Amino acid sequence: MTEHDDSCWFCNPSVRTDPPPGGWLLESDVWRAGHAPAGYGPAGTVILECRRHVLDQAEFDEREAATYAAVTGLLVGAVRRVTGCDRVYQWATMDGFPHFHLWLVPWSRNDDLRGPRFLVDRLVTRDGCDAETAEQTASDLRAAVAAGV
Ligand SMILES: [Zn+2]
Repeated sequence: MTEHDDSCWFCNPSVRTDPPPGGWLLESDVWRAGHAPAGYGPAGTVILECRRHVLDQAEFDEREAATYAAVTGLLVGAVRRVTGCDRVYQWATMDGFPHFHLWLVPWSRNDDLRGPRFLVDRLVTRDGCDAETAEQTASDLRAAVAAGV
């Protein structure tokens, strides 16, 4: 496995030209997380990504394995706090690029769908939130993450 792949959207800033809305919510040498780009999901959708070019948890090194639950928990808590959702769905396929990334999607009891149907509707069928909403929500999430939720 390589540490970096120049053709990978997650690894190479010249492939991914747009930073996440409002900038990173969390950035370390192991992890990075941002609000999903406008149009990609409902407000509060966060994408956590590994800094190294690894496919999935089976390839995590010791630091990634040791911090994964804590970083995921921090973000899940922030999404719940900021959006008021009841659950935070976690979705990872590594389909577009073979680089570990986890989608966190807020779900509420009063949403019309649940489970995979909810994910397909909100991440595929619908347009997702607008740029202004994404940036405002990202700002609220950044504050929640900084406060440790
Ligand atoms: Zn990569």
